[in-house]
Amino acid sequence: MTEESRHRFDTLKIHAGYDRTQHNNASQVPIYQTVAFGFGDTERAEQLVNLKEKGFSYSRIGNPTTAVLEKRIAELDGGKEAVAVASGMAAVSYTLLNLAEGGGRIITAANIYGSSFDEFRTLFPKFGIQFDFIDDINDLAQVEAAIKADTKAIFAESVTNPDTMVTNIEALAELAHQHGLPLVIDNTFPTPYLFNPIRHGADLVVYSSTKGISGHGEVVSGLIVDAEQFDYGNGRFKQFEEKDYVLGNEEEQVERSFVETFGAKAFTARIRVKYLRLLGAALSPFDAYLVLLGIETLSERLAKQVASTEKIARHLSNHPHVKAVHYSGLPNHPQHELVARDFPRGVGAIFAFEVDGSETEAKKILNAVKIFSYLPNVGDARSLIVNPGRTTHREIPIAAREKSGLTNTWIRLSIGLEDADDLIADLDQALAKAFD
Ligand code: PLP
Repeated sequence: MTEESRHRFDTLKIHAGYDRTQHNNASQVPIYQTVAFGFGDTERAEQLVNLKEKGFSYSRIGNPTTAVLEKRIAELDGGKEAVAVASGMAAVSYTLLNLAEGGGRIITAANIYGSSFDEFRTLFPKFGIQFDFIDDINDLAQVEAAIKADTKAIFAESVTNPDTMVTNIEALAELAHQHGLPLVIDNTFPTPYLFNPIRHGADLVVYSSTKGISGHGEVVSGLIVDAEQFDYGNGRFKQFEEKDYVLGNEEEQVERSFVETFGAKAFTARIRVKYLRLLGAALSPFDAYLVLLGIETLSERLAKQVASTEKIARHLSNHPHVKAVHYSGLPNHPQHELVARDFPRGVGAIFAFEVDGSETEAKKILNAVKIFSYLPNVGDARSLIVNPGRTTHREIPIAAREKSGLTNTWIRLSIGLEDADDLIADLDQALAKAFD
């Protein structure tokens, strides 16, 4: 299929990035379960290894099945290029290392996924990368005050976990660009169906496609999408401008930089050449196929899940044993206007509520549900329930958790594809048992 960008989301999710005439006319994207690809002759081998010809040689660096996923996600998200990796954490890590490698600072929202928080707080500093945590990422004065000479990027999640606070990407992107910084957005929770950060000014988008994008709790995977609008030759990113042996040619005695060699594609080229090739968290072709399969029903799943979520959140808001519902998709939420502006299809299928009692009652609910599965994941076809304070958010120190109000009486739900009324009945019976 050609000229994909003229098509709408639902056509792109089925066809983008796949030209069946290049694959024996196979209807479904074939799984190229192979490590390596023949060079053909020595002349082509030279062309390929010297990056003068595009093609596949080794699946850690690129694979035709994975390449379809990469093209499809870039099209769906309004980006130009994408790289698939083995997990959402690899997507976050590679993107930020690629920006701040060699030392520097990154400004991040404090309200982020637990493992990202832990990585930024305890691991990246050991690689010489420091993080400035911002309590309210929509407070631009706070963000601007944190920008220093060695700041390399601003990072935030579009919709936070588990309280579904929404980041004003347009405002943050404008500020980032005024200071010559790229804006990186983790858009895992909304998926490209509900929100496209690049269309609101973000430069790079990362995903845990383990979640809603694949949608069936069946594959760990990650994606990095590049808008190709940021200039990595602006003097702040030495690693993009220095000559690199791998990009040179010993015989011709030339060495070139990533910016010189790849221009607008420098960021994703560097992820592939340095991070996939050398650190190696490549997505397997079979797993890429599973993600592609999930994407085929992304809109249908998300549309139903969002409708169910809104219904369940409304129901819980009126429940006598529920103290608060944390879902920015509700009309009385303080972020309602921003959500209405940026999320016309809804804000997502994950939210939290606070039990009007103690942790004892919260635990009783977890033990009493029958349809909801008690496990640490989101974005599955099955509905999921978890106590984040004791599980998914344990890595975040209590003082930091308290800033977003998260206590052990919070329960997070990820709404699946079951009947919404059955899910409501399941929660009602669990709440009744807990407060018996
Ligand atoms: N980003 C967000 C917002 C997440 O929720 C998660 C996982 O829950 C990740 C990144 C990490 O993804 P993965 O588990 O695929 O490594």
